[in-house]
Amino acid sequence: DKARSHYSKTVLVTAGVGAFSPNKLDAPGVTEYEGKGIFYFVKDKQLFKDKRLLIVGGGDSAVDWALNFNNWAAKVTLAHRRDVFRAHEGSVEELMKCGAEIKLFYEVKQVIGDGKWVKKAVIYDNRTKEETMIDVDSILVNIGFRADLGPIRNWGLEIRGREIKTNGRMETNIPGVYVAGDLAGQVDSVKLNLIATGYAQAAMAVNVAKNFIDPTAKIFPGHSSEMKM
Ligand SMILES: Cc1cc2nc3c(=O)[nH]c(=O)nc-3n(C[C@H](O)[C@H](O)[C@H](O)COP(=O)(O)OP(=O)(O)OC[C@H]3O[C@@H](n4cnc5c(N)ncnc54)[C@H](O)[C@@H]3O)c2cc1C
Repeated sequence: DKARSHYSKTVLVTAGVGAFSPNKLDAPGVTEYEGKGIFYFVKDKQLFKDKRLLIVGGGDSAVDWALNFNNWAAKVTLAHRRDVFRAHEGSVEELMKCGAEIKLFYEVKQVIGDGKWVKKAVIYDNRTKEETMIDVDSILVNIGFRADLGPIRNWGLEIRGREIKTNGRMETNIPGVYVAGDLAGQVDSVKLNLIATGYAQAAMAVNVAKNFIDPTAKIFPGHSSEMKM
Protein backbone atom coordinates (compact mmCIF):
# COMPACT_ATOMS: atom_id res chain seq x y z
CA ASP A 1 0.00 0.00 0.00
CA LYS A 2 1.23 3.45 -0.88
CA ALA A 3 1.48 5.72 2.14
CA ARG A 4 -0.30 9.00 1.53
CA SER A 5 -0.34 12.14 3.64
CA HIS A 6 -3.60 13.82 4.49
CA TYR A 7 -3.36 17.05 6.44
CA SER A 8 -5.92 17.71 9.13
CA LYS A 9 -6.09 19.56 12.41
CA THR A 10 -8.36 16.91 13.90
CA VAL A 11 -8.95 13.18 13.50
CA LEU A 12 -11.98 11.14 14.54
CA VAL A 13 -11.19 7.45 14.94
CA THR A 14 -14.17 5.11 14.44
CA ALA A 15 -12.43 1.82 13.77
CA GLY A 16 -14.80 -0.40 15.77
CA VAL A 17 -13.03 -3.55 16.87
CA GLY A 18 -10.52 -3.11 14.05
CA ALA A 19 -10.09 -4.32 10.51
CA PHE A 20 -10.95 -7.94 9.83
CA SER A 21 -8.53 -10.29 8.16
CA PRO A 22 -9.00 -14.01 7.58
CA ASN A 23 -7.26 -16.53 9.81
CA LYS A 24 -4.56 -18.10 7.69
CA LEU A 25 -4.10 -21.82 7.30
CA ASP A 26 -0.85 -22.89 8.91
CA ALA A 27 0.64 -25.69 6.81
CA PRO A 28 3.60 -26.08 4.45
CA GLY A 29 2.86 -24.86 0.94
CA VAL A 30 -0.05 -22.64 1.93
CA THR A 31 1.75 -19.31 1.74
CA GLU A 32 3.43 -20.27 -1.53
CA TYR A 33 0.11 -21.07 -3.22
CA GLU A 34 -2.01 -18.28 -1.75
CA GLY A 35 -3.77 -16.76 -4.75
CA LYS A 36 -2.57 -19.71 -6.85
CA GLY A 37 -5.34 -22.10 -5.93
CA ILE A 38 -5.59 -21.23 -2.25
CA PHE A 39 -8.16 -18.57 -1.44
CA TYR A 40 -9.66 -17.03 1.66
CA PHE A 41 -12.46 -15.23 -0.21
CA VAL A 42 -14.56 -16.02 -3.24
CA LYS A 43 -14.17 -13.08 -5.59
CA ASP A 44 -15.03 -14.90 -8.79
CA LYS A 45 -17.22 -18.01 -8.72
CA GLN A 46 -16.14 -18.83 -12.25
CA LEU A 47 -12.73 -19.82 -10.93
CA PHE A 48 -14.30 -22.84 -9.25
CA LYS A 49 -16.53 -23.96 -12.11
CA ASP A 50 -16.08 -27.71 -12.76
CA LYS A 51 -13.04 -27.80 -10.48
CA ARG A 52 -12.17 -30.09 -7.59
CA LEU A 53 -12.57 -27.90 -4.56
CA LEU A 54 -11.45 -28.49 -1.00
CA ILE A 55 -13.17 -26.26 1.54
CA VAL A 56 -11.63 -25.98 4.98
CA GLY A 57 -13.76 -24.95 7.95
CA GLY A 58 -17.00 -25.61 9.77
CA GLY A 59 -18.59 -22.20 10.16
CA ASP A 60 -21.28 -20.55 8.09
CA SER A 61 -18.88 -19.41 5.36
CA ALA A 62 -17.44 -22.90 4.83
CA VAL A 63 -20.82 -24.63 4.90
CA ASP A 64 -22.60 -22.02 2.77
CA TRP A 65 -19.87 -22.16 0.13
CA ALA A 66 -19.93 -25.96 0.16
CA LEU A 67 -23.67 -25.85 -0.56
CA ASN A 68 -23.27 -23.07 -3.09
CA PHE A 69 -20.52 -24.85 -5.02
CA ASN A 70 -21.97 -28.33 -4.76
CA ASN A 71 -23.52 -28.27 -8.23
CA TRP A 72 -21.01 -25.81 -9.59
CA ALA A 73 -17.64 -27.39 -8.85
CA ALA A 74 -16.73 -30.84 -10.22
CA LYS A 75 -16.34 -32.07 -6.65
CA VAL A 76 -16.59 -30.47 -3.24
CA THR A 77 -14.73 -31.89 -0.26
CA LEU A 78 -15.20 -30.20 3.08
CA ALA A 79 -12.57 -30.81 5.76
CA HIS A 80 -13.47 -29.81 9.29
CA ARG A 81 -11.34 -30.38 12.38
CA ARG A 82 -14.27 -31.39 14.61
CA ASP A 83 -17.63 -33.12 14.26
CA VAL A 84 -19.48 -30.07 15.58
CA PHE A 85 -20.27 -27.21 13.23
CA ARG A 86 -20.62 -23.56 14.12
CA ALA A 87 -22.71 -23.06 11.02
CA HIS A 88 -26.48 -22.72 11.11
CA GLU A 89 -28.11 -26.04 12.01
CA GLY A 90 -30.34 -26.02 8.92
CA SER A 91 -27.35 -25.46 6.63
CA VAL A 92 -25.43 -28.33 8.26
CA GLU A 93 -28.41 -30.65 7.76
CA GLU A 94 -28.51 -29.64 4.11
CA LEU A 95 -24.76 -30.15 3.79
CA MET A 96 -24.93 -33.70 5.11
CA LYS A 97 -27.48 -34.59 2.43
CA CYS A 98 -26.02 -32.64 -0.49
CA GLY A 99 -23.50 -35.18 -1.74
CA ALA A 100 -20.34 -33.24 -0.95
CA GLU A 101 -17.61 -35.31 0.66
CA ILE A 102 -17.43 -34.39 4.33
CA LYS A 103 -14.20 -35.21 6.13
CA LEU A 104 -14.79 -34.75 9.84
CA PHE A 105 -11.81 -34.52 12.21
CA TYR A 106 -9.64 -33.72 9.20
CA GLU A 107 -7.08 -30.94 8.93
CA VAL A 108 -4.73 -29.85 6.18
CA LYS A 109 -1.18 -31.09 6.68
CA GLN A 110 0.41 -29.91 3.47
CA VAL A 111 -0.37 -28.35 0.13
CA ILE A 112 1.47 -29.43 -2.99
CA GLY A 113 1.59 -27.69 -6.34
CA ASP A 114 3.56 -27.57 -9.56
CA GLY A 115 5.12 -24.22 -8.78
CA LYS A 116 2.32 -22.38 -10.59
CA TRP A 117 -0.89 -23.71 -9.04
CA VAL A 118 -2.00 -26.00 -6.25
CA LYS A 119 -2.45 -29.64 -7.29
CA LYS A 120 -2.85 -31.76 -4.17
CA ALA A 121 -3.63 -31.46 -0.50
CA VAL A 122 -2.52 -33.81 2.23
CA ILE A 123 -5.23 -33.96 4.86
CA TYR A 124 -5.05 -35.99 8.04
CA ASP A 125 -7.42 -37.41 10.61
CA ASN A 126 -6.49 -35.56 13.80
CA ARG A 127 -7.54 -38.57 15.93
CA THR A 128 -5.55 -41.29 14.17
CA LYS A 129 -3.01 -39.08 12.31
CA GLU A 130 -3.81 -41.10 9.19
CA GLU A 131 -3.01 -39.07 6.08
CA THR A 132 -4.91 -38.89 2.81
CA MET A 133 -3.70 -37.18 -0.32
CA ILE A 134 -6.40 -35.67 -2.50
CA ASP A 135 -6.23 -34.07 -5.94
CA VAL A 136 -7.51 -30.51 -5.84
CA ASP A 137 -7.73 -27.56 -8.19
CA SER A 138 -8.54 -25.07 -5.47
CA ILE A 139 -8.68 -24.79 -1.71
CA LEU A 140 -11.06 -22.36 -0.05
CA VAL A 141 -10.09 -21.63 3.53
CA ASN A 142 -12.88 -20.35 5.79
CA ILE A 143 -11.53 -20.68 9.31
CA GLY A 144 -12.69 -17.41 10.77
CA PHE A 145 -11.55 -13.84 10.99
CA ARG A 146 -9.37 -11.83 13.29
CA ALA A 147 -10.00 -8.19 14.10
CA ASP A 148 -7.03 -5.95 14.64
CA LEU A 149 -6.58 -2.20 15.05
CA GLY A 150 -3.45 -2.40 12.93
CA PRO A 151 -1.32 0.75 12.74
CA ILE A 152 -3.77 2.65 14.97
CA ARG A 153 -2.16 0.80 17.89
CA ASN A 154 1.06 2.69 17.26
CA TRP A 155 -0.37 6.20 17.15
CA GLY A 156 0.39 6.84 20.82
CA LEU A 157 -3.24 6.68 21.88
CA GLU A 158 -4.12 5.36 25.31
CA ILE A 159 -5.50 1.93 24.48
CA ARG A 160 -7.11 -0.32 27.06
CA GLY A 161 -7.84 -3.76 25.67
CA ARG A 162 -10.01 -3.18 22.62
CA GLU A 163 -10.83 0.45 23.42
CA ILE A 164 -9.28 3.86 23.14
CA LYS A 165 -9.72 5.81 26.34
CA THR A 166 -11.87 8.91 26.02
CA ASN A 167 -13.75 11.39 28.17
CA GLY A 168 -17.29 12.76 27.83
CA ARG A 169 -16.11 15.04 25.00
CA MET A 170 -14.80 12.07 22.99
CA GLU A 171 -11.26 13.44 23.34
CA THR A 172 -8.32 11.08 23.54
CA ASN A 173 -4.95 11.64 25.19
CA ILE A 174 -3.74 13.26 21.94
CA PRO A 175 -5.14 16.78 21.46
CA GLY A 176 -7.23 16.94 18.28
CA VAL A 177 -7.74 13.18 18.08
CA TYR A 178 -11.22 11.93 18.95
CA VAL A 179 -12.83 8.52 19.11
CA ALA A 180 -16.43 7.34 18.73
CA GLY A 181 -18.37 4.11 18.42
CA ASP A 182 -17.40 0.67 19.63
CA LEU A 183 -13.77 1.69 19.92
CA ALA A 184 -14.54 4.46 22.40
CA GLY A 185 -13.85 3.54 26.00
CA GLN A 186 -15.55 6.36 27.86
CA VAL A 187 -14.42 6.74 31.43
CA ASP A 188 -17.26 6.41 33.95
CA SER A 189 -19.80 5.60 31.26
CA VAL A 190 -21.94 2.61 30.40
CA LYS A 191 -20.50 0.66 27.47
CA LEU A 192 -23.33 0.42 24.99
CA ASN A 193 -22.11 -0.86 21.63
CA LEU A 194 -25.05 0.25 19.53
CA ILE A 195 -25.37 2.19 16.30
CA ALA A 196 -27.27 4.95 18.11
CA THR A 197 -24.46 5.33 20.66
CA GLY A 198 -21.87 5.61 17.90
CA TYR A 199 -23.90 8.25 16.06
CA ALA A 200 -24.31 10.34 19.20
CA GLN A 201 -20.63 10.06 20.09
CA ALA A 202 -19.61 11.00 16.55
CA ALA A 203 -21.88 14.07 16.70
CA MET A 204 -20.28 15.08 19.99
CA ALA A 205 -16.78 14.47 18.64
CA VAL A 206 -17.18 16.57 15.48
CA ASN A 207 -18.70 19.47 17.38
CA VAL A 208 -15.95 19.38 20.00
CA ALA A 209 -13.42 19.11 17.15
CA LYS A 210 -14.94 22.18 15.49
CA ASN A 211 -14.40 24.09 18.73
CA PHE A 212 -10.82 22.75 18.92
CA ILE A 213 -10.05 24.17 15.47
CA ASP A 214 -11.91 27.42 16.14
CA PRO A 215 -12.16 28.11 19.89
CA THR A 216 -14.62 30.95 19.18
CA ALA A 217 -17.10 28.46 17.68
CA LYS A 218 -19.91 27.16 19.87
CA ILE A 219 -19.88 23.45 20.58
CA PHE A 220 -23.65 23.20 20.20
CA PRO A 221 -24.36 23.60 16.48
CA GLY A 222 -27.95 24.74 16.99
CA HIS A 223 -31.12 23.27 15.54
CA SER A 224 -32.20 23.48 11.93
CA SER A 225 -35.34 25.32 13.09
CA GLU A 226 -33.08 28.17 14.23
CA MET A 227 -31.55 28.61 10.78
CA LYS A 228 -32.31 31.86 8.98
CA MET A 229 -33.38 30.63 5.55
C1 LIG B 1 -23.73 -9.43 14.97
C2 LIG B 1 -23.96 -8.01 15.40
C3 LIG B 1 -25.25 -7.52 15.41
C4 LIG B 1 -25.49 -6.21 15.81
N1 LIG B 1 -26.78 -5.74 15.81
C5 LIG B 1 -27.02 -4.47 16.18
C6 LIG B 1 -28.35 -3.96 16.17
O1 LIG B 1 -29.30 -4.65 15.84
N2 LIG B 1 -28.53 -2.66 16.54
C7 LIG B 1 -27.50 -1.86 16.92
O2 LIG B 1 -27.73 -0.69 17.22
N3 LIG B 1 -26.23 -2.33 16.95
C8 LIG B 1 -25.97 -3.61 16.59
N4 LIG B 1 -24.68 -4.09 16.61
C9 LIG B 1 -23.61 -3.19 17.07
C10 LIG B 1 -23.21 -2.23 15.96
O3 LIG B 1 -22.97 -2.97 14.77
C11 LIG B 1 -21.95 -1.48 16.38
O4 LIG B 1 -22.19 -0.85 17.61
C12 LIG B 1 -21.58 -0.44 15.33
O5 LIG B 1 -21.40 -1.04 14.06
C13 LIG B 1 -20.29 0.26 15.74
O6 LIG B 1 -19.95 1.18 14.74
P1 LIG B 1 -18.47 1.66 14.59
O7 LIG B 1 -18.49 2.67 13.49
O8 LIG B 1 -17.93 2.06 15.91
O9 LIG B 1 -17.62 0.38 14.16
P2 LIG B 1 -17.78 -0.58 12.91
O10 LIG B 1 -19.17 -0.58 12.40
O11 LIG B 1 -17.18 -1.87 13.34
O12 LIG B 1 -16.88 0.09 11.80
C14 LIG B 1 -15.48 0.14 11.93
C15 LIG B 1 -14.88 0.23 10.53
O13 LIG B 1 -13.51 0.60 10.63
C16 LIG B 1 -12.74 -0.23 9.78
N5 LIG B 1 -11.38 -0.33 10.32
C17 LIG B 1 -10.98 -0.86 11.48
N6 LIG B 1 -9.66 -0.77 11.65
C18 LIG B 1 -9.20 -0.15 10.55
C19 LIG B 1 -7.90 0.23 10.11
N7 LIG B 1 -6.82 0.00 10.84
N8 LIG B 1 -7.82 0.84 8.91
C20 LIG B 1 -8.92 1.07 8.17
N9 LIG B 1 -10.17 0.73 8.53
C21 LIG B 1 -10.29 0.13 9.70
C22 LIG B 1 -13.47 -1.56 9.81
O14 LIG B 1 -13.13 -2.32 8.69
C23 LIG B 1 -14.93 -1.10 9.80
O15 LIG B 1 -15.39 -0.88 8.50
C24 LIG B 1 -24.42 -5.39 16.21
C25 LIG B 1 -23.12 -5.89 16.18
C26 LIG B 1 -22.88 -7.19 15.79
C27 LIG B 1 -21.47 -7.72 15.78
